Amino acid sequence: MTVNGNQLQRPPKILVVDDEMAVHRLLSAYLQKNDFIVENCLHSQDIVSSVESFQPDLILLDLMMPELDGISATKRVRNMTLSSYLPIIMLTAKKEVRDLVTAMEAGADDYITKPFEFEELMARIKNMLRLKLLQDQLVTNSFELNEANQQISRLNHVLVQTNKQLQNKLYDFHNLFEVCYRVMSQMELHSLIKQALINILGIFATKSTMMMLVSKDDNNSFEIVDAKGFQNSNVWNFNLTRHDRLVHYLELIKKAFRISDISPEFDDLVPQLKEIDVEVVCPLFQDDDIIGILCLGPNYKDEEYKEDNLEALELLGNMLSVAVKNAGRYERIKALSYTDGMTGLHNYRFFRLRLKEEMSRTRRDESLISLLIIDVDHFKNYNDTLGHPAGDEVLRQVSLILQKSVRDNDIVARYGGEEFAVILPGADKEGALTLAERIREKVATYGFEQEEIQPEGNLTVSIGTATSPDDAVTEEDLIVRADKALYHAKNTGRNRVVDAQTILGNE
Ligand code: GH3
Ligand code: MG
Ligand code: MG
Repeated sequence: MTVNGNQLQRPPKILVVDDEMAVHRLLSAYLQKNDFIVENCLHSQDIVSSVESFQPDLILLDLMMPELDGISATKRVRNMTLSSYLPIIMLTAKKEVRDLVTAMEAGADDYITKPFEFEELMARIKNMLRLKLLQDQLVTNSFELNEANQQISRLNHVLVQTNKQLQNKLYDFHNLFEVCYRVMSQMELHSLIKQALINILGIFATKSTMMMLVSKDDNNSFEIVDAKGFQNSNVWNFNLTRHDRLVHYLELIKKAFRISDISPEFDDLVPQLKEIDVEVVCPLFQDDDIIGILCLGPNYKDEEYKEDNLEALELLGNMLSVAVKNAGRYERIKALSYTDGMTGLHNYRFFRLRLKEEMSRTRRDESLISLLIIDVDHFKNYNDTLGHPAGDEVLRQVSLILQKSVRDNDIVARYGGEEFAVILPGADKEGALTLAERIREKVATYGFEQEEIQPEGNLTVSIGTATSPDDAVTEEDLIVRADKALYHAKNTGRNRVVDAQTILGNE
């Protein structure tokens, strides 16, 4: 049957509630002929159970019935919980108009007065069924709408949460960026690592952190560069080489990991790391090589580090490996600029800088300082006869003799050409002269290649010495004094040591 375009899946079911058998017969015959399924209810008290068992699409209900009148029957139906709307059409005699109003108020939808025309009954039934379908549709739609609303509200909740997480991440990244900036602006390796570790303590709310870097000497063992916050001093004894399984594991997974996530075949690493109270390990790569390891101890909340933390640590690790590389370059350049490339000694720049520092310290401490200026005798001869490379070799050998002759805090520098300088902080005249004499003797007795070509038959040096404050107060004066003494040594036969005091009055 089609009702206003809505197709019911089956013929509509009508429940006729009337106490007269004759009415039932009449309506059943007519409605069934018009393709309705009809169920009769003779006893209005049974209306609820009839509705439950028959599940009608519409009820035709007599208003006046002896057992339970139409109004009470309507109320009972309306009190039922039904899955869809159930229209009720009252059958009534004309004189019952007042009751009819009450019935409508109790929940009836329409009425038809007896005796009725079947066409009119049919028109009202169809109308009611159409309304029912619309009503059902409305209920379905509003149910779907409600569902959609709930879905939207769930999505909205997720959106709010995601937004919050994004904001947190943004905040973390901002922090991370700040830290990177601060760390990257440190050129010196130790201060950059110190700065990085201090910031790591803050970012990850971690109680302790440490950083190992591959040793410059052998590129095989890792050394702890700095550690912060560890209670257990054992951490400083932690040794690691490229052959250790921890390094293999890092090479394999190439990222930061929690020791609680170590894969089973490497679980022997767990006790090793637990012993020094490390919870997270992050490798520092340069190309495909591990150059360092960053470790985190437990955090203040005593919670496991989250994936976010590991990601941030990796970012920081990447940045640190670049910073470490730059610091290495910086140190090499710095070292180069203070080093004489040929002899490996400090250069003139460094000599001047250190002499200035040492002289002011001497003045402050009211202590002594001595200076030696050493010059190779007849070096031009050696050079011209045997060639520049042979001359260079002599300069390197003299440099070694000088380095081996002095104590740790003495400063040996190449002053220029074939001249050297030695700063002796704390040394008095006697000490300076003793050392100078020792150097002179060592050079004179050293077997240089083909030194017999020299005018005296061997290669020698002349040395001028001066002491502050005895001979000079400023570094310029001290140099001049030592230089003059050297000049005197040259003029008085070479291969000798002359002190500034000796030439006083001879100038
Ligand atoms: P004196 O005993 O008076 O010091 O005589 P000298 O020949 O040593 O002094 P002079 O200043 O005349 O010559 C120094 C020579 O040292 C000249 C220069 O070619 C040489 N020389 C300076 N620097 C280097 C260097 O780096 N390598 C080599 N092979 N020779 C150098
Ligand atoms: Mg010279
Ligand atoms: Mg010379």
